Amino acid sequence: KVWAADLGQVDPQDIWRKDRDHFVHPWTHFDSFKQDGSLVMDRAEGAYVTDISGKRYLDGIGGLWCVNAGYGRKEIVEAIAAQAMRMPFYNPFVDTTNVPAAELSAKLASLAPGDLNKVFYTCGGSTANDTAVRIAHYYHARRGKKSKMHVISRIDAYHGSTYLTGSITGRPGDRSPYLNFLDGWIHHVSSPNFYRSEKARQEDMSEAEFCDHLVQELEDKILEIGADNVACFFAEPIMGAGGVIVPPPGYHARTLEVCKRHDVLYISDEVVTAFGRLGHFFASKDVFGIEPDMIVTAKGLTSGYQPLGACIFSDRIYDAMSAPDPDGWFTNGYTYSGHPVACAAALANIALMERDDICGHVRKMGPYLEKKLNELLDLPIVGQVRGKHFMMCVENVADKATREHLPDAANIGKRISDHCERLGLIVRPLGALNVISPPLTLTEPQIDELVGILRKGIEAAMQDLRQEGLL
Ligand code: PMP
Repeated sequence: KVWAADLGQVDPQDIWRKDRDHFVHPWTHFDSFKQDGSLVMDRAEGAYVTDISGKRYLDGIGGLWCVNAGYGRKEIVEAIAAQAMRMPFYNPFVDTTNVPAAELSAKLASLAPGDLNKVFYTCGGSTANDTAVRIAHYYHARRGKKSKMHVISRIDAYHGSTYLTGSITGRPGDRSPYLNFLDGWIHHVSSPNFYRSEKARQEDMSEAEFCDHLVQELEDKILEIGADNVACFFAEPIMGAGGVIVPPPGYHARTLEVCKRHDVLYISDEVVTAFGRLGHFFASKDVFGIEPDMIVTAKGLTSGYQPLGACIFSDRIYDAMSAPDPDGWFTNGYTYSGHPVACAAALANIALMERDDICGHVRKMGPYLEKKLNELLDLPIVGQVRGKHFMMCVENVADKATREHLPDAANIGKRISDHCERLGLIVRPLGALNVISPPLTLTEPQIDELVGILRKGIEAAMQDLRQEGLL
């Protein structure tokens, strides 16, 4: 063996130390990382992960909203191994391609709505959103509309962590003073979070009136920048990392209509919502009834077995981009665009999802997960349970009626997640929220297990807060 991830050969403490001393993690809070290091995960099967000490957890977050088909799927592993042995890599640049990339492109074109028949591959969601902006700019420029460069996004949106997509992201905490090169080019309209909208509260708006306001605000923003200057609008069908925010009914169709009227491309960021999480391969059309100009996806595309992102866009955009021009180079791409092993993993993942009708399972079990989570509303700090199907969250509050936040010192999301971890469940803390995005294979007893532990975690956190005088 050259190297083997064999428990018998590693000292858990040694791994923990090597990690803390050398692996700089994404989204690191250095003070706590230096002190606590990381929980070392080691094995996984079905819906469960096991850490290096042998403790098993129900994975309530599906890796990170991505292990849609569940762990230990031999079909995907074998497709990866077979492709790696046959040809692990060949470049996609100089007029060469590979079998899995060609097959997957045709498959995605058949699954995506409308005339979204063209696929550009990337290494993940951030690079796919980055590419979407490059495509939007190129598309407009090739039509003689070179000034259409500005990007409109939304407060609370998450679109990635390259410099460009980090700037398009609209979560207030992420918009640090260290991310300002692109200020002036990227604009953020309101979050579609009705529950937390100050304006909706102050003006006593109904959800329908709130939707009217959001649609008008987008149009006003386009007019303020000048439609001739706006390239695209980004929207997740349901916001994920911003707090699992489901927009008011009609929001997507109406914002798409505004975009169309002003020749602004509508980019649907389906990094989380695609590949079954909401019960369909793509949520744009089948859940929200829209055909956007581009769909960006990643995560569930391979169920996390390989890193892969894709920007799927319309024939109309492609035709403009590729119209005859001796200088017509689209200079965007990655060494690993259309990586054969990643594409083979995606093909096996999609085949498996179709064979087992995983989308149908989510449409059946999603309402059950929603119902069970809604039962947590009897707890005094659970202010709202929201989301759809296998993309859910619980928002914790000090006062249900006023929706007042718990004090920062309560660190409530993290506190609940820590208790759940102790009790054998992984749920992700996001400020005052706990996010639930499990593998899509979860059975009814596993849903009961998840919600049962989450309830105990919330109760334990409440007990802490009472003892500390914070509740
Ligand atoms: N868009 C959305 C909606 C996401 O949730 C994420 C990741 N959580 C990204 C983009 C970025 O994807 P990646 O981390 O693969 O770059």
